[in-house]
Amino acid sequence: MRWQLRPLPFVGLAPAIVVALGTFAAAAFGVLGFSTLANHSDEYSLQQASALAAILAERLRVIPLEQRAVVIERAARRAGVELLLVDTYGGILVDGTIRPPSREQIANMLVGETGISNTQLGRVSFAAAPVRTPREFSNLLVFARAPKPPTPAVPLVTSLGLLSSLLIGAATLVAYWLARNVHADVDYVRARISGMSARDTEPLGQTIPVRSTDVVGVLTSAFNELASRFSEAERRYRKDLQRTLTYDKDRSAFLAALSHELRTPLNAILGFTDVLLAEVDGPLSSEARENLTIVHQSGRHLAALIDDILDLSAIESGQLRLTRTYVDALEVTQAVVREIQVTADKKGIELRLDGEHAPAWADRRRLRQILNNVIGNAVKFTHQGSVNVRVERVGRDTTAVSVKDTGPGIAPHDQAAIFEEYRQSGEQRWQRSGTGLGLAISRRLIDMHGGRITLNSALGKGSTFTVLLPSESEEDRWQDYTPVEPVSSETNARVSQP
Ligand code: ADP
Repeated sequence: MRWQLRPLPFVGLAPAIVVALGTFAAAAFGVLGFSTLANHSDEYSLQQASALAAILAERLRVIPLEQRAVVIERAARRAGVELLLVDTYGGILVDGTIRPPSREQIANMLVGETGISNTQLGRVSFAAAPVRTPREFSNLLVFARAPKPPTPAVPLVTSLGLLSSLLIGAATLVAYWLARNVHADVDYVRARISGMSARDTEPLGQTIPVRSTDVVGVLTSAFNELASRFSEAERRYRKDLQRTLTYDKDRSAFLAALSHELRTPLNAILGFTDVLLAEVDGPLSSEARENLTIVHQSGRHLAALIDDILDLSAIESGQLRLTRTYVDALEVTQAVVREIQVTADKKGIELRLDGEHAPAWADRRRLRQILNNVIGNAVKFTHQGSVNVRVERVGRDTTAVSVKDTGPGIAPHDQAAIFEEYRQSGEQRWQRSGTGLGLAISRRLIDMHGGRITLNSALGKGSTFTVLLPSESEEDRWQDYTPVEPVSSETNARVSQP
């Protein structure tokens, strides 16, 4: 299942949540405290009003009517309350208030006896007590203002300040803790990624635990997904590689067995045709000689083809190993030219070699094979004119063998193709001798030497193939090695057609 997370700005959000929740809690505590205080002061004023109403009502009962106003006024002043003497209908008899409530309000208060009311006096606790004498029936109403709760401004601000500091401290701690976690996760992911990218490391390993739902969480889970895919791909690749290696081994073994099986009868055929053509067993008719020559040529072609296929197979499977030493490129080229000279002479082509002794860090046998192919091709495809071979040092660390012919040349679109397997250029390819493998093998061998082969050619104007090889081993290149001294131009070997 694919792990999908919506990125939340969790790192920034968490401290903000801590601050918001704390502020909300502080406000809630404040409001609760205020309402408790208000309730307490209401209760207190209510008790005060009830007690005063009962006491004063008792006193008023024994005080003559005309003195009541004075008594009520004095009592109001002393007790810090407001008093009202009313008749049963709410009509005011004695007013000891700053501003009396309405008649309707008074009537309601008389019904309720005690309570809290919002009158023109403001929020007050009131208590009513009957004043009964044999002559009259009136009611005394006492209004006591609830004492103001202590001004909360200074302590409240102080406590809120303290609380805020605490909250900011807590938020900072939370942010620090989160940041540390995030940092640890990011660090871990970074270390794992650089570990995976290092050469020769095993990318397989534990997945990273996803600890948050924020961007880092998304990054972590994406990384886990990537790592598991990578591991899967690597596992598949190793399996395929193993299978390919097994195929390669099987193929090489098959080719080796096949070539052995083909070579034995082929050698017998070549041997017998040689004997017959030498006319050891008696003279041959011209027709028989011609046929035997064709058999002989075909046999040699087949043998060359088997050799090439074996070489190519060994190169492809990595089984072909070079045995490199310092070789004199001129000396090797001379030997090759000497061999091909016979064919060139037969064709009436001038084959020339010049240049200087130049070292090459190469496998002697393979260098011979490369030069044999390139110089052999030049002679094979040139029908008149000359083939010039030149050996020289190019720059500090390269030796070049160039082969220039006056042959048919190679069209631009064929120039890259001829270095591929089984590719030939020009017209009437089917009539040619050759396997189409020579240059492909040469190119690969030159690659293995760390060199390259270049071609300069134009149709009708001949071709120049240049084989470039390192003149020093890699080790010596770094150790300031002085290779074979170049000989002076007078002593240069010259092989030329008489
Ligand atoms: P082969 O010579 O066996 O056909 P190679 O791989 O050696 O195979 O060469 C591939 C093709 O490149 C040849 O068939 C030929 O068409 C072309 N070629 C190689 N060398 C020359 C050359 N010197 N001049 C013209 N064509 C060449």
